[in-house]
Amino acid sequence: MSILFTHVNYFMKPTIHPQFNTNTVVKCACGVSFTTGSTVKELHTEICSSCHPFYTGKQKLLDAAGNVDKFKKRTATATTIKATVKPKKERKTRAKK
Ligand SMILES: [Zn+2]
Repeated sequence: MSILFTHVNYFMKPTIHPQFNTNTVVKCACGVSFTTGSTVKELHTEICSSCHPFYTGKQKLLDAAGNVDKFKKRTATATTIKATVKPKKERKTRAKK
């Protein structure tokens, strides 16, 4: 791994690239953490290979960020708005000659 990174740095143009960290800590919502290479020092994920149903083989809904709740809230507000807003008047269409 380190050989690859030094090799890449050798050919890269200096002073235009962001700092590359080889020991970025990735923290998943399930509690698992591991290191990887990235330009940021710390990463937070909702799902990883330790908890994704594809790898675990178990059906499981993980909604750590609350995206499902946000969607439900948005749809609820949209339906209330639709119910209160009056429909537009029908436009008069010109008769074809
Ligand atoms: Zn995980």
